Amino acid sequence: MRALQEFHRRSLHDRDAFWTEQAKMVHWEKPFTKVLDYSRPPFAKWFVGGETNLCYNAVDRHLRDRAGQKALVWISTEVDREKSYTYREMHEEVQRAAAMMVALGVGKGDRVIIYMPNIPEAVFAILACARIGAVHSVVFGGFAAASLAARIDDAKPKLMVTADGGSRMGKVLPYKALVDESIRLARHPPAHVLIFRRGLDADMPVVAGRDVDWAGLAAKHAGAQVPCTWLEASEPSYILYTSGTTGKPKGVQRDVGGHAVAMAASMQHIYCGHAGETIFTTSDIGWAVGHSYIIYAPLIAGMTSILYEGVPVRPDAGVWWKIVQDYRVSVMFSAPTAIRVLKKHDLAWLKKYDLSSLRHLFLAGEPLDEPTHAWISQGLDKPVIDHYWQTETGWPILSAMPGVEPTPIKFGSPSFAVYGYDLKLLRETDASEAGPGEKAVVVIEPPLPPGCMTTIWGDDERFVKTYFSTFSKKQVYSTFDWGIRDKDGYYFILGRTDDVINVAGHRLGTREIEEAVNMHSNIAECAVVGVADALKGQMPLAFAVAKDASKLGSIEGRKAFEKEIMDTVDKQLGAIARPKAVHLVTLLPKTRSGKTLRRAIQALAEGRDPGDLTTIEDPGALEQLKAALAARSA
Ligand code: AMP
Repeated sequence: MRALQEFHRRSLHDRDAFWTEQAKMVHWEKPFTKVLDYSRPPFAKWFVGGETNLCYNAVDRHLRDRAGQKALVWISTEVDREKSYTYREMHEEVQRAAAMMVALGVGKGDRVIIYMPNIPEAVFAILACARIGAVHSVVFGGFAAASLAARIDDAKPKLMVTADGGSRMGKVLPYKALVDESIRLARHPPAHVLIFRRGLDADMPVVAGRDVDWAGLAAKHAGAQVPCTWLEASEPSYILYTSGTTGKPKGVQRDVGGHAVAMAASMQHIYCGHAGETIFTTSDIGWAVGHSYIIYAPLIAGMTSILYEGVPVRPDAGVWWKIVQDYRVSVMFSAPTAIRVLKKHDLAWLKKYDLSSLRHLFLAGEPLDEPTHAWISQGLDKPVIDHYWQTETGWPILSAMPGVEPTPIKFGSPSFAVYGYDLKLLRETDASEAGPGEKAVVVIEPPLPPGCMTTIWGDDERFVKTYFSTFSKKQVYSTFDWGIRDKDGYYFILGRTDDVINVAGHRLGTREIEEAVNMHSNIAECAVVGVADALKGQMPLAFAVAKDASKLGSIEGRKAFEKEIMDTVDKQLGAIARPKAVHLVTLLPKTRSGKTLRRAIQALAEGRDPGDLTTIEDPGALEQLKAALAARSA
C-alpha cells in the first residue's frame, strides 16, 4: 500500500507538482499560470489562466489517432436498436448540433436544459454545449413537470432540448408533453424547444414559433464546421441539480479545466480504462455518474463508451453480461441496486457469457451491502470495487485505485480516500478527529480537489452555508455521511448524518441495521427507517424483500422469518437495533437511480404525508408498504 499512500500524500502536500503532472493528460490551448488560486476560501480555482475545451478533449483530439474507432455504442433494449458512432462521426454530429444551437441563438455562457432519454442525440447535445461554451443542465427524465419547472426557473435556459418520448420496460414516457407542462409552470421559459422525434409519440403537440424539429434543422446544417470556444479553466461547464434537505434543488456547478483533469486522471488511476478499450456504465445521462463515466471521462480517454437504454433484466437477466461479452468490455460501472435485482435471478445468467475482457466492476451511489458485494464478486470472479462519491464531487472520494496500486478488497468497504481529497472523520460534538473504529462525520478539508463543484449556481452564499457550516469551529466540506475507518485504514460509509436514528439515546445508522438484516441468507434487500416510539424516542422499522418467498405464504411462515431476522440483527448489532417489526414486501420504493426513498417510507410508517414522490420508480411499491402497515395495525 506504500505506492498508494505516497500518491495520496503527494496530491496534498506536493500539490502543484502533482496536479501539473495530471493536467498533462488533457489538451491546453493556453497553458495555466497557476495550479490553484485559493485566495477566497472555500472557493477553489484550479489551473488558473489555462484555456481548454471539454469537447475538444473528448472528440477533436482523437481524430488524428482514432477517427475510425467507435466512440459511442448505443444499445437500446427498449426499442431494440443498436447504433455506433466513430470519433469522426461524433465530430460531425456534435458540430452539427452545435451549429443548430448557434442558429437558435445560443452562445457562450447561455444555459441549455437537456431533458432526454439515454439516446445518442443527448450526448451530441451535451458535447455541442461544451463546444460552444454554453452551460448544459441535464435533468433526469424521471422528474415531473413541477420539478423541471423549478430547474428552468433557476437556470433560465435559452434553449431546451428534448425528445418526443422515452421508453421504460416497453412503456412509452411522453417527454415532450412533460416539457410543455413544465414550461407552462415556469416563470422563465426558454425561447425555443428543440425536439428529437423518435416516433414514440405521434400525437405530440407542437407550439408554433417555439418548437423546432431536430431533423429539420439538422438537414440545414449538414457538414457544419463549428470551432471550439476556448474557455478559461474555471468558467462553468455545466449545472446538475441535486436535492437536499430543503425543497429548492441545488444547482451543482462544475468548471471546465478541473473537470477535464479529474476525468482523465480518474479514468487512469481508478478505473484503469485505456484508449481503444470499451467501458459500459449502466447509469442514466441525467445523473452525475452518467455525465462523468458515460460521456466525459471515457471520451477524454479515447475509449469506446456504451450508452444503454433499458433495464438489467429485459429481455433477460443476462443482457448486460452479453454486452460485456459482445463488446469486449473491460471496465463496467453500475449500482448496487441493479446487482441486487440481478441477485434475485439465477447465477447461470452470469456464467453463460465470456467475461474474460472485464477487468473490474465498479459500483457506487448507495451503500453496497456485504452479501451483495460477496455474491457478485464470486459470480464474476473479478474484483468488484465499491466506491463512494456524490453529485457534488463528480468523481470518487473513496475508492480502491488499481491504476495506482492494486489493494485487497474488503466487502462492504469503498476502501481508501482518493488522491486530492483531504478526508477526515470528525466527531460531531467538537469537530475533533475520530480514532480508528469510531463513527464520525465524513468531511473534506478544503480546498476541494479539481473537478468538484465550484459553487451552487447563482448562489455562492448558499454553497458556503450548506456545505461548509456544519461545524462552527472549522470550515470543512461536509458530505453529510457517517463513516468509520478500521484499523487497516479501510473506510465504511454508515448512512447519512441526516438519516440518523436515536433509539433510547443510542444513535444508530439505518445503514448499519440494513446491513445486519441483509446478513440473513433469504434477504434480497431491505430498507430500515426510524419511526417515532413513545418509550424509546425512535425505533427502527424494517421493510424487507425476500429472495425466496415460497415459504412465507402462511402467517406462521412469516412470523418465523421475522423472528429469524430479528435474531440476525440481535446477533450483528445487539438488541438495541432490533426492528420493531419487519414488513415483507416484494419491492421497495426507489428513485429511478436506485435510491431508496427512506423519507417517504418513514413518513408513511409514521402516518404522515410522504411528500414529493415524482422520482419514484414504481408507485406500486408505496401501495404495498401501506398495505403492509395497515395489515399490521389491523
Ligand atoms: P448522489 O449525489 O445522489 O449520488 O448521492 C450521494 C450519496 O449517496 C452519498 O452522500 C452517500 O450517502 C451515498 N453513496 C454514494 N456512494 C456510496 C457508497 N459507495 N457507499 C455508501 N453510500 C454511498
